[in-house]
Amino acid sequence: MSKGEVAMPLTVTGFCEFGMVVKLKAVCFLAVLHEIYHAYLDAQDGLPFNPETDLEPSHEYMMQHYTDDIAAALKTMFPSLDDATATALALGGYGDVQNINPTFWNTTLSNNHVTNAQVTHVNTYYENGSEGTLCH
Ligand SMILES: [Zn+2]
Repeated sequence: MSKGEVAMPLTVTGFCEFGMVVKLKAVCFLAVLHEIYHAYLDAQDGLPFNPETDLEPSHEYMMQHYTDDIAAALKTMFPSLDDATATALALGGYGDVQNINPTFWNTTLSNNHVTNAQVTHVNTYYENGSEGTLCH
């Protein structure tokens, strides 16, 4: 794969069987998207941080640049998600930003018209899902 090119998952049907609710499935899909954006950042030159080692700055960058894209991808996969839920989901997976840079966190959430409670809830699912308890 050449630099800057990212393999998209052709199928997500293997994720989250057993009749789980859409939101949980979306979190599993989000976990895949999240890793793709990490890979995408790893392939970038000229970032003001090292995407392979600087996790929290990478997450801030992803929050700033990819929230709309991730929310749109979630809505494409799961049309029943409303905008606020898709956006809250898209901002999941960045619990380290919430802890390390709460000012950035709160500003970004506010810019995206979602509340801390909405996204924190998603992060709880996300962390469980990422650990594999929800996404087998
Ligand atoms: Zn990450």
